[in-house]
Amino acid sequence: MAASPPSDRRCALVTGGGTGLGLAMAERLARDGYDLTLASRDPAHLEAGSQTLRAAGARVLTVRTDVRSESAVDELMHRIREEYGRLDLLVNNAAGNFVAPAEAITPNGWRAVIGIVLNGTFFCCRAAFPLLQERASSAIVNIVAAYAWMAGPGTAHSAAAKAGVLALTRTLAVEWAGYGIRVNAVAPGPVHTEGTDQRLWTDGEVTRAVTRGVPLGRFGTAEEIAESVAFLAGPRASYITGQVLTVDGGQWLGTGLLPLLRPEGPTTPARRTSQDGHPE
Ligand code: NAP
Repeated sequence: MAASPPSDRRCALVTGGGTGLGLAMAERLARDGYDLTLASRDPAHLEAGSQTLRAAGARVLTVRTDVRSESAVDELMHRIREEYGRLDLLVNNAAGNFVAPAEAITPNGWRAVIGIVLNGTFFCCRAAFPLLQERASSAIVNIVAAYAWMAGPGTAHSAAAKAGVLALTRTLAVEWAGYGIRVNAVAPGPVHTEGTDQRLWTDGEVTRAVTRGVPLGRFGTAEEIAESVAFLAGPRASYITGQVLTVDGGQWLGTGLLPLLRPEGPTTPARRTSQDGHPE
């Protein structure tokens, strides 16, 4: 099939857009008038996400893609050019994560997370560049997490990957500004999604402990994260590039002692150490 002439409407690609925060972002962008492309591995996720979006009147292309594969990502961009003839916004949202102490992360587990989050984000940015630079103005929003710059116990692989994505965000913002491409990041705080409820906020006790560390006193909603993505993507952010917008209810503002002020207090005492720093 030959490439289409550019569509009249703006087009956005959301990786991992069939579920969780990605789907909320796609729904929010559809309300702003974007045509959507959703890309991820599981056809059931893509089908469910596209049904939700089409029910709301959006035009949707789904492309089964593993972002770890450079050739699959190249094919994804080819399909977008065929279908829409343009790309105005890339949201790198796809991620894989699991909580484990660093010493328990296997080389395969490490490679999987780095492969999806860091390599996948770079492959998508690189392959989207020819389409994005054809627009007078276009944008990339990378989804990171505050443990990219704070310590996130149990997330050595994911923290390293997200830190890499943050560095990539700042570098591309500078390199691609001359092409009219703004590159920013959103760092969500804790939000219940199907993925995180299986891997991170696994039960009520964990949820309560996390909530105690959030000054606003609650988890965020997918819609609140999606709103920030829509803001950074749109004309109200036309002079913003290379920035990270943290949307976390104040969780990471250095409030490690906040749980002391909350009735239930902290739950996990640190292993005791002597004054010279060695375990007792
Ligand atoms: P989620 O429900 O687990 O969604 C992850 C998405 O990524 C899924 O749609 C999955 O679809 C896709 N994906 C995974 N591996 C992929 C691959 N190799 N290629 C293509 N797609 C792949 O997670 P979420 O909670 O919505 O999180 C979305 C983003 O927000 C992630 O970047 C996450 O790190 C970030 N974040 C979330 C929270 C939170 O509390 N929810 C907090 C901080 C940051 P398939 O299974 O179909 O491939």
